[in-house]
Amino acid sequence: MSSPVIERERLSTQLIVENQFDVAAKLIGLEDSMQLLLKTPFRTVSVEVPIRMDDGRLEVFRGYRVQHNGARGPCKGGVRYHPEADEEEILGLATTMTWKTALLNIPFGGAKGGVQVMARALSSRELEAITRQYTRRIALLLGPYRDIPAPDMNTNQQVMAWMLDEYSAKYGYTPAAVTGKPVALGGSLGREEATGRGVMHIMQDYSRDYGVPIKDSRVVIQGFGNVGAHLGLFLHELGAKVVAVADVYGGLHDDNGLDIPALFEHAYHQRHPVGEFGRGDILQNDDIWKISCDWLVPAALGSVITKEKNANTIDCKVIVEAANSPTTPIADKILDARGIQVLPDFLVNAGGVVVSYFEWTQNLQQEPWTLEQVNTELRAKMTEGYDIVHKLAEDKGVPWRTAALAIALQRVADAEALRGGW
Ligand code: GLU
Repeated sequence: MSSPVIERERLSTQLIVENQFDVAAKLIGLEDSMQLLLKTPFRTVSVEVPIRMDDGRLEVFRGYRVQHNGARGPCKGGVRYHPEADEEEILGLATTMTWKTALLNIPFGGAKGGVQVMARALSSRELEAITRQYTRRIALLLGPYRDIPAPDMNTNQQVMAWMLDEYSAKYGYTPAAVTGKPVALGGSLGREEATGRGVMHIMQDYSRDYGVPIKDSRVVIQGFGNVGAHLGLFLHELGAKVVAVADVYGGLHDDNGLDIPALFEHAYHQRHPVGEFGRGDILQNDDIWKISCDWLVPAALGSVITKEKNANTIDCKVIVEAANSPTTPIADKILDARGIQVLPDFLVNAGGVVVSYFEWTQNLQQEPWTLEQVNTELRAKMTEGYDIVHKLAEDKGVPWRTAALAIALQRVADAEALRGGW
């Protein structure tokens, strides 16, 4: 059952997730048959996504939806548009969703979808055409009690609105079939910034317990999309100094702290590269890992902290995994030996799916919540997840990732055992 620790320049999320699984399964003595069941995805669907490009050419993209596990509730997870979103990558991300929903104790399983496409190169019309075609081809798998998509990398509220429209055209108006929708279509207040807000709460809880203050601390954020940008704004409001950020094009550095509200406006609202901000020193992409800081936050793609690249040289107190699977298994070991704490992805970045859950319940009950209610409940959920992982990690003397996964695996295994059917 065990998977070798493989180290190459970029590992797929699936390889990283599989390796972590084995360590946690051992900790809780999960029997082999249950391990096999939990490792195997329930359903993997691959579809062709043909569309007319703006220049009249027919282009055929590849789309996927992987439902990893639905023992605890309907499958749940985002849709990613990215050239690396192949079947293996989506499987790893779907598996992570199963552990994330179990750890946060919300009544969902795990899924992920994706279209292999360079989203940045698409016009708005092409993006809409891809979304509608992809949704039509996976619609039979979806539904409020089957599988509920949401935004992920390079997808947003507008994409969710198109998905909802396609789904509803087939099955009738069903707002609970998609989360991360615009508020005007039944989306939840607070959903857009929920992942970043949740990351902040985990940092606040850790800060309190381990004496790493947030105020006046130095923060580096790699990735300035929905998660990184909102987190930057929240940390700035708490008095942290965000000294460096990077996006796909490059980075920015200012030892006195960047003007995050202005950068948020420039990069998040106006969609310009951070490097064109006009203030701060320009960084080449990989130079961001060389900046010393208290909190280092990878908030973009997976497999960016590796033995070859940076695990031995990163200079921070805590790594906060806002991205999914940013740290390879060997890098994890190196960081552990160096005494650098790694707060694991499926705890840290769970705020998005937690508020997706609130959105789903608001849709089913046809009763919107106030922003205050959403944020209060999000805070409670994140802290509940933090506390249980913190306690197990301390009691067993294991890394936080292992503790978090052990809790999630046990919950999914218990649900599987009760349901049976195999
Ligand atoms: N894409 C987000 C994640 O990876 C949110 C998923 C959701 O809300 O279903 O957790």
